[in-house]
This record gives sequence, structure tokens and C-alpha cells, in this order.
Amino acid sequence: MLSVTNLATALYCKRKLFIEKVLRLKKIPKESLAKGKVRHAAYELVNKEDESIVRTIRKKTEFPELLLFYKKKHLQCLQNALLQHKGELKEVNLALPDVFKQSWPSLYRETKERAFHVFSFMEKHQVYGEELWQLLTPKIDSEVKIVSEELLLTGIIDQVWHYEDETIPYELKTGSAPLKGVWPSHSIQIGSYILMLQNIQENAKKGYVKYLDIQESREVFLNPFLEDKILATRDAVVTMIETRELPDRTSNKKKCDSCEFKAQCYDEKVMDAEMKKLQN
Ligand code: SF4
Repeated sequence: MLSVTNLATALYCKRKLFIEKVLRLKKIPKESLAKGKVRHAAYELVNKEDESIVRTIRKKTEFPELLLFYKKKHLQCLQNALLQHKGELKEVNLALPDVFKQSWPSLYRETKERAFHVFSFMEKHQVYGEELWQLLTPKIDSEVKIVSEELLLTGIIDQVWHYEDETIPYELKTGSAPLKGVWPSHSIQIGSYILMLQNIQENAKKGYVKYLDIQESREVFLNPFLEDKILATRDAVVTMIETRELPDRTSNKKKCDSCEFKAQCYDEKVMDAEMKKLQN
């Protein structure tokens, strides 16, 4: 079994996947990684909080009041996420208040969107509390584990949005977004999740990559071209693991700047020693 993130890493840089999966070297902690973990944790907590927030709305509520309620809850989620990852933040010398200041604006945009969605739904259907929660769509699950024996793939989907007649996977990404569409490694990741959801009989045709820094969700459809690419990448990764040959460095040096293995990858002595250990 391969994880879907292995395919995404292979598209980013085959050598990176080899260092991670075959040589099993330790990642050097990076600020961006620690900040990304905090934001993922905050979104997960926000999702888990949704049900209790909605059930608490027992009567007609004006939008400013609802927004304030959501804001309080989501601020608490972010604080808890920071505490969950305070060790990793300390390791890269990041202060909790600074990460809070950087993370809150994009989470607050999400807060406003959710509060508005619930408010509109409530206004339209005139239902509250338990009834509102039962009727409300989409329901969102976080960190959904998925396994496909047939595709030989496993993964954890950041969010799965359940509508009455459709299931939509979402991947949350920190860092830069391309001008249009999504990065190839993100496309293969979300495409794989759509394929795996189809495999367990879910009605999934498309997914989204949500770029948190710009708060934009970009759509990805699973077409035959993307499906072929997913399967070809999976097979290439299996071959790479079996042959145990160290792939060349990526030609796009910009990728190396944000790579957690850069120090080891460019150190010929380290790489030679690791390859010798592997061959023995
Ligand atoms: S430093 Fe560059 S070439 Fe090396 S593994 Fe990372 S992305 Fe690939």
C-alpha cells in the first residue's frame, strides 16, 4: 500500500520521496511545516465544533450575534491548535502570539463564511437547534481515513463535504497558490481521493484544493487523463522503491528552498553513506 501523499511527493520531486520513504532520513523542522500543522489542527477543531454551535442556536438569531458566537468558538479552536503544537513551534523558534496573528485572518474569513452559510440556511428554512443541524448541508468530516485495496492506496482526506447527492473531498494547503488551477502535486492528491471515494461507491466527481493564505478553493475534476496519471505515478513509485536507485535532484531549484531534506540531499557524503547503508 502507498499513501496518496507519497504520489504527491513523487510529483514534487522523486528524490525527496526516495529520501523520505526509502532512506527514511529525518526531516529538518521548518517554520512553514509547523505553521501548516497549526492551521490544519485549527480547521479540524473548527469542523468538530460545528455541530455543537448549530445545535445551540435555539431561536431566530441576527447575523452579527451569530458571527460573534462563531468568532468566540473559532478563536478558542485556534488557541487550542497552538497549544497542541507548541513543542513544534518552539523547535523552530516561533512564538505562539506571532503564529496566532498570522493564522487568525484566514481562519476568520472561514468563520464569516460559515456563519453566513448557517444564517442563510436558518433564514430560508426557519428551523433552529437540532432540526437545523439535521437539515443543514453540507456536513463536513475532517481527517477522513480512506483505504482502497483495489488501487493499493491509502490516505487521510483533510475534509469530506457530504451533500445529499454528492461527496466532495477538500485538501487544505498553506503556502503559495499558482496563478490559475492547482499545483500538479495537489491535483494528483485530490484526484486520488476522488478515485478512492468512487471506489467505495460514493458519488464523487470533483474535489477542491483550498489555498488557505488566499482563502480560495480551486476545483479539480477527475478526468481520464488525471486518472491515468495517478495510476502511472503509483506504478512509477513502486518501481522506484523496488529498484532502490537514488533519483536525480529536481531541475526546479525553487522547490529545494522549501524542502525539509535540502541539507542532506545536497551533502554528497551523507547521501553516499546512506546509499551504502541501504545496499548492505
Ligand atoms: S532538496 Fe530539492 S532535489 Fe533534494 S529532495 Fe528536496 S526538492 Fe528534491
